[in-house]
Amino acid sequence: MAPPLPHVDIWIFDLDLTLYAPEHNIMEQVRNRIAAYVEDYFKVDQARAHQIRYDYWRKYGTTLGGLMVEHGVDPHGYLDFVHDVDMSLLQPCERLRTGIEALPGRKLIFTNADAPYAKRVLEARGLDGIFEDIFDIHRMAHKPKPATDSYDALCEQMGIEPASALFVEDSAHNLEPAKALGMTTIWVNHSGDARPNYVDYEIADVASWLAGEKE
Ligand SMILES: [Mg+2]
Repeated sequence: MAPPLPHVDIWIFDLDLTLYAPEHNIMEQVRNRIAAYVEDYFKVDQARAHQIRYDYWRKYGTTLGGLMVEHGVDPHGYLDFVHDVDMSLLQPCERLRTGIEALPGRKLIFTNADAPYAKRVLEARGLDGIFEDIFDIHRMAHKPKPATDSYDALCEQMGIEPASALFVEDSAHNLEPAKALGMTTIWVNHSGDARPNYVDYEIADVASWLAGEKE
């Protein structure tokens, strides 16, 4: 059952921790792969590597952003390395697929990861073939969410009118630029933090929300 949002005809989804839950362990693996990359690149210990990873993520939206801006790292080799993770904990979710398929209008993925990885996640969740396109880190010219350039690139390249678009994300700070453009914003809150004022709706789980179940 589609939610009552009649003005929306473009449904934009983040990927990681939005279309699967934290307990599936994928992002923990990715974070550890990122730290391993940083550890080897800077020849630092694991604790320091995780600190650098986190600091770049906060400052640039992704660790890759910091590595590219400050050190000229090539994104392709990096992305292949950090996304080499075990997807076996991800299971297809028929309810999620049914809910997204039933949404009236266009459906897109907007992710700071790259498209080959996004396709693997979507296949593992049984969500392949239902999204029109994957707008990934390369298509946003490596200026990741929440950089406003990435939202401008998305809207321009995909022909999106923000007032008729809705964006679903688990990282609340990535919703702020979307709201500023005029999109409707849905926050998948795994943190228990208070809802920021740029979040229109707060949900615990995308499949339950689309099924119209009480959160
Ligand atoms: Mg996410």
